[in-house]
Amino acid sequence: MKAGIYARISQDTFDTTLGVQRQIEDCTREAKRRGWEVVETYVDNDVSATRSKVRPAYVRMMSDIEQGHINAMIVWDIDRLTRTPRELEDIIDLADRMNLSMANIGGEIDLSTPQGKLTARIKGSVARHESEQMSRRLKRAFTQRALSGKPHSYAPYGFTRTEREGEVWDEVNEEQAEVIREAANRYVAGESIRAICTDLMRRGIPAPKTNNWSATSLRQILLRPVNIGLRKHNGEIIGKCNADPLMSESLFNQVNARMFDPERIKHAQGPKNKYLLSTIARCGKCGGKMAGQAKHEFNSKKIPSQYYCKECYKIRRKREPIDEIVTGAIVARLGDPKLVSALSKDVTGELPKLRERMDGLKARLDIAADNFAEGTITGEQMKRINTKIVPDLDELKRKIGHLEGTNPILSLSGANAAERWANAPLEIQRKVISELMSVVIMPAGAGGKFNPELIKIEWKV
Ligand SMILES: [Zn+2]
Repeated sequence: MKAGIYARISQDTFDTTLGVQRQIEDCTREAKRRGWEVVETYVDNDVSATRSKVRPAYVRMMSDIEQGHINAMIVWDIDRLTRTPRELEDIIDLADRMNLSMANIGGEIDLSTPQGKLTARIKGSVARHESEQMSRRLKRAFTQRALSGKPHSYAPYGFTRTEREGEVWDEVNEEQAEVIREAANRYVAGESIRAICTDLMRRGIPAPKTNNWSATSLRQILLRPVNIGLRKHNGEIIGKCNADPLMSESLFNQVNARMFDPERIKHAQGPKNKYLLSTIARCGKCGGKMAGQAKHEFNSKKIPSQYYCKECYKIRRKREPIDEIVTGAIVARLGDPKLVSALSKDVTGELPKLRERMDGLKARLDIAADNFAEGTITGEQMKRINTKIVPDLDELKRKIGHLEGTNPILSLSGANAAERWANAPLEIQRKVISELMSVVIMPAGAGGKFNPELIKIEWKV
């Protein structure tokens, strides 16, 4: 199969965080899974475009299909592909004529059967509907329903629509509810929404409406008052609704507390690493960064805390034994007098020379900046000088830092290393590990036994 990937940046879809890079990555993985060769990638930017504007990549793709350059197509979801029912009908025609294979993430878009066509048409019109302003009439109907505690026209994720004592009632759908509760528990335990979404997708757990979990939709699901049997309208809890509670009030409150914790929001610049080796340890299969995952329960099975590869997802190992091995190795090394002398032997001789060199580089940067300001060199030349000098400067700063003792390695090494290590904050431990060693986690061999040799440690110093 010669496949093309189609991705579109769009503002009108449910989740604006779905970047184009992410779409392409997911589609590439899907192609690999199917054994399709990706020969073209088509990307359109729809963000600022009016609806009638042509999409150049889309047009190019249609003509490539027409000419047989590609005979398969992968999109993240059907709503990325078409914006109007007419466009969809064009694709359906073309797929018919050219015998085009189509796939979305985790699924097949089978336009060769009436059922497949119907599904695509319904999805297309649902997507359109969602992007349109709700009419006043509908809004009024919703208000009335909300006030009477009656559910909307479909059961929310986690519930099944039934009837109880002559009334429409949403009862808990255990399978979906378990996913929500797991996510809530993991979120409360400190994992990020994004990490939980990634994990749900890795495990192939379908999201409501689509196959893909987005941070926006998961967050919204966790915060729904319906989770504890309450109904909200225009931002206010207005009473009980016709639904059984899906989680305990205390869990629900904890989720809310973390989500709206002002301290956390203030510090929410990127996720903080909670584990000793997350993003430090590398995957022995693809070289990708490993991430840590908290222990959790799934389908009443206890899953221990693990490291997993964030890139290929092929390696997943229990966290604690790995942390133990690395801690053991690093403490032994820190206690080794040779390390201390290796790190501090040059304090007297080397330091002045390094400082001199650093001053020299700084002066060159200053001169370049002056020249640029005076117009004697171009911005391009200035940039080249910078890219040459700045890395050297950083390296010098690092070395000088070592020698001046600002390096935490020196403060943790020597006698009593084990005790000092145990008392050091996680961030310092992580810094010392990444300065001193590289850790590669190899795939587990046959049998369930933990083999320490499959954790490869290399010393940098
Ligand atoms: Zn990997």
